[in-house]
Amino acid sequence: MHLLQFTGLSGAGKTTIARSIKTALEAQGQPVAIIDGDVYRKNLCADLGFSAAHRLENIRRLGAVAHGFVCRGSIAIVAAINPYESGRRHMVHAYGARTVWLDCPLEVLQLRDTKGLYRRAALPEGHQEKIYNLTGVNDPYERPAAADLILHTGHESVDASVSRLLDFIRQCPPTRCPEWLRSE
Ligand code: ADP
Repeated sequence: MHLLQFTGLSGAGKTTIARSIKTALEAQGQPVAIIDGDVYRKNLCADLGFSAAHRLENIRRLGAVAHGFVCRGSIAIVAAINPYESGRRHMVHAYGARTVWLDCPLEVLQLRDTKGLYRRAALPEGHQEKIYNLTGVNDPYERPAAADLILHTGHESVDASVSRLLDFIRQCPPTRCPEWLRSE
């Protein structure tokens, strides 16, 4: 089984691709768990903010949840911005995660702006709707140095990205799990 860690800016397509992959793989009988950062920030990670330390703690927790799914036979996808190399490295070293970078240019994201976040980040200082922690705009995004797969979601269709990811998953060696975490 596999643990995939997605990384990419808000609106790059993490949730869209994760859901499409889940549909495709489950149609073939392969269970998939999506550990979506936006969802877990409402429960398990509700105490965390957006500082570097909290973003790293967020990934650490999502990784532990994902690993549990993998060891029980699912493919797990951590779909979060995951902006720091140290967080991504932790996932690789602790769980053998494969890194999938959804690389979409900022100009495309600003046009898409599905959640209205880029508009809000561009507001003038002091505006009551302005946000100050949007990754890639006014919060850091470290470009991945060691991605296993790059999906160019700015100019590739969703179907094309999903098809490339399915090919990648098929040729990936499985993640190892400790004996005590394997299901009987
Ligand atoms: P994220 O989870 O990264 O914040 P979303 O999946 O919520 O991003 O939104 C991505 C948006 O971009 C969706 O409206 C989706 O239809 C669109 N999109 C266009 N091309 C692609 C692609 N190749 N992969 C993923 N999403 C795409």
